[in-house]
Amino acid sequence: MQYEQIKTLKKQVEFILKNYPHTRNDDRELVKIVCERFGHDPIAKATSIERCRRWLNQRGEYLPTDERVARQRKMNIEEWRVSMGYRTTGGTYTPPSEANKPKEWLIPSETRRGVFYRVIDFGYRMECECPQFRFKRTCKHLKKAIQRSILEKQNSLFNGTENINHSKQYTNTEHYN
Ligand SMILES: [Zn+2]
Repeated sequence: MQYEQIKTLKKQVEFILKNYPHTRNDDRELVKIVCERFGHDPIAKATSIERCRRWLNQRGEYLPTDERVARQRKMNIEEWRVSMGYRTTGGTYTPPSEANKPKEWLIPSETRRGVFYRVIDFGYRMECECPQFRFKRTCKHLKKAIQRSILEKQNSLFNGTENINHSKQYTNTEHYN
């Protein structure tokens, strides 16, 4: 999907919350990425973006993954735990559903110590959050993530855990050259 095809602000916010799970815990980060990706003025759009996020959250969608954030937003914690797939009794956790999470890699910067860039695999395309990728649409981190994804795929084939649904995602050669 191209960014230009996502027309309404609500859909744009939903797209970012879905594909960048860390923004579910941080409205400032959400506003920043929505505005970067879709070319909005963050000052003009911040309130509307937060309103879209609340609207989605009220429907139980793209809830914060961090319980402290859920508490700060004065959510009902029992309801939040149920929505997130946590069991509320018995003291044991069922982890939240991973189904819609895109695959991510954190790749260390070669020049800046302690800095990591997030590379996200949307299945049909991969993206890095570093500044270079924004301008050139490719970068070192993306290439490293591709190497890792190929290694992981080989390992999963070797272990017999290959998921047929994932076999399509490495056929896109857009960033491989
Ligand atoms: Zn990068």
